[in-house]
Amino acid sequence: MEKELKENMEVELIKKELDKARAELSMLYEIGKAMHSTLNLDEILYIILTAVTAHTGLGFNRAMLFMVNEKENLLEGRMGIGPQSGEEAYQIWKKIETEKMDLNDFIEAYKEFSTQGGPPLNHQVKTIKIPLREDGGILALSVMEGMPFLINTPEARTKINDIALSILKVDQFVVVPLKAKEKSIGVILADNFVTKKTITNEDMRLLIMFANQAGLAIDNSRLYEQTLLLSNTDYLTRLWNHGYFQQLISEEIKKALENKTSLGLIMLDIDNFKNYNDTLGHQAGDKVLQQLGTIIRENIRRNDWACRYGGEEFAIILPQTNKEDTYKFAERLRIKLEQHPFPKEEIQPQQKITVSLGVANFPEDATHKDELIYKADMAMLEAKKRGRNRTCQYTSQLLPRQ
Ligand code: GH3
Ligand code: MG
Ligand code: MG
Repeated sequence: MEKELKENMEVELIKKELDKARAELSMLYEIGKAMHSTLNLDEILYIILTAVTAHTGLGFNRAMLFMVNEKENLLEGRMGIGPQSGEEAYQIWKKIETEKMDLNDFIEAYKEFSTQGGPPLNHQVKTIKIPLREDGGILALSVMEGMPFLINTPEARTKINDIALSILKVDQFVVVPLKAKEKSIGVILADNFVTKKTITNEDMRLLIMFANQAGLAIDNSRLYEQTLLLSNTDYLTRLWNHGYFQQLISEEIKKALENKTSLGLIMLDIDNFKNYNDTLGHQAGDKVLQQLGTIIRENIRRNDWACRYGGEEFAIILPQTNKEDTYKFAERLRIKLEQHPFPKEEIQPQQKITVSLGVANFPEDATHKDELIYKADMAMLEAKKRGRNRTCQYTSQLLPRQ
């Protein structure tokens, strides 16, 4: 009888363990699925922190994420989710309770988070930079050693003197490194700021499992962003390539239509470049293209787009710029290039490397993308016709190409 009772209890225990493992797996699966739904890095970080904090996820009150900046040997605060004051905590919990939010509802709220900048905690986390040194504190240590730390007693907490923790008002906490291919790429810091619930070894175990998955998702997204950048970049000049130019100009025309603003387009072509190449060789020509790319990039404004249209032709998109200002910018650039000392430029017919530019604006000169490109191109050919090393604006007097 007694033996039977004991066996029954054991079976019950195993059943419970199994149920728990099943629930954990299903949660990790759901989070994994959410992370794979996007390749946008910020959105992935948001999903990770949401999963750490949502009660259908790991259930911590707050989660903060820091990432390694290898170049500067720093650990930088990237994102924080959760309250930074008692009142804020109360408002958040009330919202969760009344709206019965689950993991997916939280993830859906990303748009709101990204446009409104997130809670005060997020702003605070972003100001934190920690040197990756022995004396950098417990977050740096976690990254450097690739080790998690659980600090869940007041005694243990008093032994740690860490500036980042005091800025963030962290009391008892867990910190877990984010790893990708055996390398620590960041850390997650989580605590129970509101409920003060003790963090258990079990909580930490789950967070470690989750962090391994999260590290890989972050790494994938960074690889994707790098690949995207490379595939849109021209190898020689490092400007945007032709394919990306077409995409950019479509998007900018759409914005100009929506905001009722003017958009400038400049087409730029090197004068007598065949002569330069034929005399000095293509490698010398490539150096000129490279230098020209750098000068253009250094002279555009933050919202402008400089692209290599093809061979020795460049296109510059100037959002929110009227006809007059587009022309002025083109002229300034022409003079800059004329004055720049390119190697051996004295072999050119005018003893220097110069460019011809054509300018057209949307919607003043064109009703759609192809027409805008065509008209800027016509203006550029007019500049060639008038003797090169000059800028021409599109006007209706310009005759269409034969
Ligand atoms: P124009 O003033 O009428 O523009 O004369 P041009 O000689 O520049 O024009 P043309 O179209 O006859 O020749 C363009 C030359 O640009 C041909 C080629 O030698 C050079 N070119 C085009 N793409 C590249 C490139 O990627 N690298 C190098 N080095 N030269 C290039
Ligand atoms: Mg050309
Ligand atoms: Mg040319």
